[in-house]
Amino acid sequence: MKINFACPRCERSGRAEMAAGAGALVCPHCGLELAIPPAAIENGELHHCLACPSVDLFIRKDFPQRLGVTIVILGFAISCFMWWNYWLYATFGVLFATALIDVLLFALVGDALVCYRCGAEYRQLESMAAHGPFNLDTHERYRQQAARLSQTAALQPTAASQGATAPKATAHTSVSGERSASAGR
Ligand SMILES: [Zn+2]
Ligand SMILES: [Zn+2]
Repeated sequence: MKINFACPRCERSGRAEMAAGAGALVCPHCGLELAIPPAAIENGELHHCLACPSVDLFIRKDFPQRLGVTIVILGFAISCFMWWNYWLYATFGVLFATALIDVLLFALVGDALVCYRCGAEYRQLESMAAHGPFNLDTHERYRQQAARLSQTAALQPTAASQGATAPKATAHTSVSGERSASAGR
């Protein structure tokens, strides 16, 4: 299994390759070891994000978008040149070939499993059957949660400088509730 993830401590994105029985995910930059939860990997299936506490993951086509767009633009430019020279068959031939390459590319590329919460990407898993495609409701839930967290984080310094007691309580609840998120941000 190959993982692309953002380290919760140093916040740099790293790549890791994990063997079947590995006990921890290690950040290649700062060496932080993220222990793998007991039931996270079962029968080659991933049930839990290894870089954050989320259990919601979605399947995404691992399509190299930049390459796809480059092929389309290149095909269009070449066909324009052919059209300019009145090479009619060649023009449509190039356009057809461009579309065919994109379709083939889409059909041949594999799937990646992506975490809704931290965006970690997992590739070369034995099975992804436990997860579904992207769901907007789930995404929105995590987006709002992240927005709330960054709002609390932004409020904390001013509250601390005023020495108020109430904001301290909110800081505590956010630490216990969202352990790794507050550590990472
Ligand atoms: Zn790190
Ligand atoms: Zn995650």
